Amino acid sequence: MPDFTIVIHGGAGTILKEDMTPELEQAYFEGLQQALDISYAVLEQGGTAVNAVKAALVLLEDNVLFNAGKGSVFTKKGVQEMDAAIMDGSDLSAGAVAGVRNVRNPIELATEVMQNSNHVFLSGKGANDFAIKQGVKLEPDEYFFSQFRYDQWKAIRDSDNYSLDHTNHQLEELMRDKKFGTVGAVARDQQGNLAAATSTGGMTNKKYGRIGDSPMIGAGTYANNATCAISCTGHGEMFIRSVAAYDVSCLMEYKGLSLQEAMDKVVNEKLIKMHGEGGMIGVDHAGNAVMLFNSAGMYRAAKNSKGMNEVSIYK
Ligand code: ASP
Repeated sequence: MPDFTIVIHGGAGTILKEDMTPELEQAYFEGLQQALDISYAVLEQGGTAVNAVKAALVLLEDNVLFNAGKGSVFTKKGVQEMDAAIMDGSDLSAGAVAGVRNVRNPIELATEVMQNSNHVFLSGKGANDFAIKQGVKLEPDEYFFSQFRYDQWKAIRDSDNYSLDHTNHQLEELMRDKKFGTVGAVARDQQGNLAAATSTGGMTNKKYGRIGDSPMIGAGTYANNATCAISCTGHGEMFIRSVAAYDVSCLMEYKGLSLQEAMDKVVNEKLIKMHGEGGMIGVDHAGNAVMLFNSAGMYRAAKNSKGMNEVSIYK
C-alpha cells in the first residue's frame, strides 16, 4: 500500500500545562485523536486527501473546545462570524468562505465553493445564500454558544482589543490558553495527492467584518502536489502580511528547501521578526509531516501509514 499521512491542529497560543486541568487536557487529547482517526480511516480506505482533511475538520468544528464551528469566538457585536478554506494540491483548485453565520460546518461550505461554483472565495451574506442553495446544514445562534468563549468576550468587549496583548493581569489570565483555537488539517493520500483545510471563528472581539489568514489561499491555507500542504494558526494579520503558507511552498519550489527547513524559516525567523505568534502544520509530497510553532503550545496530532501516531499540546 502506498504511504499516506494526516496532520491536524487545533490552534496555537499561550497554552501552558499549569493552566490546564487533567480533565480538560484529556478532552483535548480525545478530540484530536478522534479527528485524526476518522481522517486516517478515509485515507486507509483509499479516499482522497481532500475528503480526509474535510472529515477531520467537520469533527473539530463540531467539538465545542475548538474555535471553529460550534464554540467559535464572539465578534465585537456578540455573534459568531466564521472563516474556512480548503485547497486541493492535485489541481490547485480551492474554495473559501469568510464571515459566514449559522453554517454548522463552514468547511463543508468552502468545499461546495471549490467543487460546485465558478468562484474561489465567497463572503458574508452571499456565502450564506450559497449555503442555503447548496443545502448546507444551518444551525441557530444558540448552537454556536459556549460559556467560556462568552466569558472571554465579556472581559474585553468594551475595549478596542481583539488580541489582548495588554497588561491587565486578570484578563490575561482569562485569555491565556484560549487565545487561538483555529482548526486545520493537511494530508497526503495513497495517490500522492495533497490537500489542506483550515476553519476558524477568528479572533475574539474582531470588528468591521475582520477576516483573518485562515480562509486566504496562500496566507493561512495552501496545497500544491509539487511541494506541500500547509495550514496555519496564530495572529492572522501577520500570517497575511507574510503570505505564510505560500512562502513555505515557494521556499521549497524555488530554493530547494525541505519542508522542515522552509517551515522553520517562516515560523521561527520571518514571523518572529514581525511578532507573528502562532504555528503551522505541513505535509510534503513524500508524506513527511512537520508541526512547528513559535508560541508556548499548539494543539496538534499526526498519523501515518508507517505507524506514527502522535498527539501533543505543549512545546
Ligand atoms: N489565524 C486565525 C485568525 O487570525 C486565528 C487562529 O489561528 O486562532 O483569524
